[in-house]
Amino acid sequence: MTMQLKTAGSQFFVPDGVSDEEALSRTTCIGVSAHQDDLEIMSFHGIIECFGQTDKWFGGVIVTNGAGAPRADIYGEYTDEMMMEVRAREQKKAAYVGEYSYQALLHYSSSAVKDPANTDPTDELKMLFEKSRPSRIYTHNLADKHDTHVGVTLAVIEACRQLPAEIRPKEVWGCEVWRDLDWMTDSDKVVLDCTPHENLQAALLGVFDSQVCGGKRYDLATLGRRRAHATYHESHGVDVAELLNFGMDLTPLVNDPQLSVQAYVKGYLDRMYDEVSARIGKVGGR
Ligand SMILES: [Zn+2]
Repeated sequence: MTMQLKTAGSQFFVPDGVSDEEALSRTTCIGVSAHQDDLEIMSFHGIIECFGQTDKWFGGVIVTNGAGAPRADIYGEYTDEMMMEVRAREQKKAAYVGEYSYQALLHYSSSAVKDPANTDPTDELKMLFEKSRPSRIYTHNLADKHDTHVGVTLAVIEACRQLPAEIRPKEVWGCEVWRDLDWMTDSDKVVLDCTPHENLQAALLGVFDSQVCGGKRYDLATLGRRRAHATYHESHGVDVAELLNFGMDLTPLVNDPQLSVQAYVKGYLDRMYDEVSARIGKVGGR
């Protein structure tokens, strides 16, 4: 069986060359992101949990084609066509280094992802989830400040909601790219220990040369964020983990299709406000 994706230009890459069918069915955990390199920034926890295992496999899904990326240095004169090609190549390099089960490049435009009337991305994600039946999904968090990222999160939630309850993932976590989740109250955080294999983290971020060359040191910033989170997570005691990422639990939204996304996110903001306010009050502020 060869995996057929909907969009012209889409790709389904299996780093170790097993059949598409086997790659889909062995997958236990999926990361779904908007752009090439987001997976390595936000879902390293899942990548490393599966790395080198025979019974756990990470499936990577990139929803957009990467056409709008900024470009500089040797990529300065690249057309959108060339940029899409180089970004797909970089993502496949990461899939190889990280030993992903597969790397799906769905190749949608950003505008397609942000159009609520276009159900194609949701339908295609649902199809991939049905074939892989992952127990856990990593995607963007709902407080991310990039519209396309939030569009992908909504598509993931909707796709999971449409799955029969018995094959829905048990955990769906919204993770950090264009906003840290350090602001959430500690009890709201899904704490993701990213301490192992720091060398691989550097390698996985390092292959995205076209993005780092665009003037942004995502490689250093991402590892710096993980280190800062580990140090500042607990104000008392010594660091247990050296590198942490945080996640927002989206599972309740998946399990209850009636639950409003807006109301759910407001709950996180309200709990943060209550905590800050209570502390100021405790020490006499008003
Ligand atoms: Zn992105």
